[in-house]
Amino acid sequence: MKRALNKKIIIGLITILSLSNIYASNPSRQPVSNLFNINDGPYIFYNADKLTVKWIKNNKLKEKNIKYTRTKFFKRKFDIHLHQASFDTITDYNQHYKTSEKIAVISDIHGQYDTAIELLKKHNIIDSHNNWIFGKGHLVVLGDIFDRGDKVTELLWLVYNLEKEAHDAGGKVHYLMGNHELMIFMDDLRYVNEKYLLSASMLGTNYTNLFLSNSLLGRWLHQKPVLIKINNILFSHAGISPDIISKDFSVHDINKIFAETIYYSTKENVYSDTTLKLLSSSKGPIWYRGYFSNELKQNDLEDILNYFDVDKIIVGHTSLPNITHLYNGKLIDVDSSIKMGNYGEILIIENEDFYRGTLQGGKIKIPLK
Ligand code: ZN
Repeated sequence: MKRALNKKIIIGLITILSLSNIYASNPSRQPVSNLFNINDGPYIFYNADKLTVKWIKNNKLKEKNIKYTRTKFFKRKFDIHLHQASFDTITDYNQHYKTSEKIAVISDIHGQYDTAIELLKKHNIIDSHNNWIFGKGHLVVLGDIFDRGDKVTELLWLVYNLEKEAHDAGGKVHYLMGNHELMIFMDDLRYVNEKYLLSASMLGTNYTNLFLSNSLLGRWLHQKPVLIKINNILFSHAGISPDIISKDFSVHDINKIFAETIYYSTKENVYSDTTLKLLSSSKGPIWYRGYFSNELKQNDLEDILNYFDVDKIIVGHTSLPNITHLYNGKLIDVDSSIKMGNYGEILIIENEDFYRGTLQGGKIKIPLK
């Protein structure tokens, strides 16, 4: 009993010491609800003919080696449908989809799992057990699941599961990479919630190492696009700048360069190559903010739309209180500040009409015409 108590005190002291270092390095980190009871995972690693599964339950590291074929274990233990997509690589860099079904778009969730779940449930995309009920609809997750909040892992597995369920129902989940996904790939951990720094240290590694290509989530993320087109709409986490079209990049080129090179590059490698540097810079599709300054005029935006042969661009990345339309409705920003953990909206596109889907389940038509 006394030994158990001492152990608890020691774990507590280590946690406080780790935290004081973490806070010293970045005092703006968001707090975690219960530091003394960390639950996280699973993190699944490829290991010859087996998978090594690691997770943390009540501050204790658990580990199991398991055959690829034992998918029932993942369903039973973690409610994960281990699926084939995680073993594939991205094949179609054009990423052009056509649908007459509904499209829902959510962005910049930043670990706010509960708000995201509420929005998805209220707008009939998932049921009370988090199962896909959106039929043949398309759900676009427009980047930045990572950082800030403390339920990032839950969100990744939710999207992973929904991807499979949507596919089976004839629908589709598109998860586009944002700047915060790239920051994790490049070991820039400035905005990671302290829970995950502690969690990674319990797992005996660095947070970035949990998302390299020897991990299932890493390999899954590395196949994701940065640009997609659905019907006549272009989707990008942050948007397309005039600098990008001046270089004659296509959607195919940009997705290929990210998926084959940038996702696997260090910051130093990216900065030493002109093309990689431009695509990863504040002029690139994961960091651009020019739509929200005076630098871009209506004509400039129309040039970008014409270049990609689309009518609209939908972005996230720049946080506003609600889903907002600009440039005579040619641009929609869906980043409705879900990251603050209080409110958020989901964009619903239905019969060519656009709606702000509120957290309470309301639908407010966006007057685009
Ligand atoms: Zn962003």
